[in-house]
Amino acid sequence: MKKTIIVTGGSNGIGQSIVEELAKNNYNIILNYNKSEGKAKKIQEELKKIGYEIEIYKADVSKREEVKKLVEYAIEKYKKIDVLINNAGISQTKLFTDITDEDWNEMINTNLNSVFYTTQEVVKNMIHNKEGCIINISSIWGIVGASCEVHYSVSKAGIDAMTKSLAKELGLSNIRVNSIAPGIIKTNMIKNLSEEEIEEIKKEIPLQKIGKPENIAQCIKWLIEDEYTTGQVISINGGWVV
Ligand code: NAP
Repeated sequence: MKKTIIVTGGSNGIGQSIVEELAKNNYNIILNYNKSEGKAKKIQEELKKIGYEIEIYKADVSKREEVKKLVEYAIEKYKKIDVLINNAGISQTKLFTDITDEDWNEMINTNLNSVFYTTQEVVKNMIHNKEGCIINISSIWGIVGASCEVHYSVSKAGIDAMTKSLAKELGLSNIRVNSIAPGIIKTNMIKNLSEEEIEEIKKEIPLQKIGKPENIAQCIKWLIEDEYTTGQVISINGGWVV
C-alpha cells in the first residue's frame, strides 16, 4: 500500500525538492503551502505532466486551527498518515537587542510551535496505526548557535529537543522521530547573502561548497525507508559542523 506523506512548506526550496523526490517514488504526497499558492500549483502541474499526482493544501502551520484542518483533510483522503515532514520555516537576521516581541513570537510560532501542532495532530493517527515516521528540518544553528539569529537558533534547538524526547516516548508505538539539521543550502532563505559572502563561507566548509535542496531530499527518502534510526539529529553540512 502506498505511503501517505505530509510535507509542510513544500512550495519552495528544500520542501519543493522533497516533494519532487518523493512524488517520483510512488508515495501519496500532500504539499502544504501558505503564501505561495501559484508556486504550489505550478509544482503540482509540472509533476502531473510527467505522470505524478500530488495534492496541495493551504494552511498556515503556525496556527493550530489551520493545522487541524490540514490533517483532517489528509486523513479523510487517505485514511492513514505514514510520514510527517516538518519543513516549513522562516529566518531573520537581527542583533539580539533589536529583536522585538513580534519578531520573537513569529519565529517561535512558525518554526517551533508549528512542529508541536502538526506532530500532535498527526501522531494520534500514527499511534492508532502503530507505525509512523516524523522528520523535522532543524539547522546547524540549533546545534552550535548563530550570532544575530538567536530566535532562529532557539527555535531549531527546540525542534531537536522535541525530536529526541518524542523518539523516546513514541518508540513503543513504532514511530520514528528524527531531525535533519542542514548547513547552508541554496534556496530563497539565503538570498540576503551576497556572492562574496557565500564565497567566504565556502572556504570554511571542508567540502568547499554549499548544499543543494536535493541533498536534503535524498536523506529524507532514506530515512523514510529505514526502520532502525530514531532520535537522531543528522546534520548535512559539507563538514562545516562536525
Ligand atoms: P524557503 O525557500 O524560504 O522555503 C520556506 C518554506 O516554508 C516555503 O515553502 C514557505 O511556504 C514555508 N512556510 C513558511 N512559513 C509558513 C507557514 N506559516 N505555514 C506554512 N508554510 C510556511 O526556505 P528553505 O531554505 O527551503 O527552508 C526550509 C527549511 O529548511 C526551513 O525550516 C529552514 O529553517 C531550514 N533550513 C534551511 C537552510 C538553508 O540554508 N536554506 C539551512 C538550515 C535549515 P509559502 O511560501 O507558501 O508561505
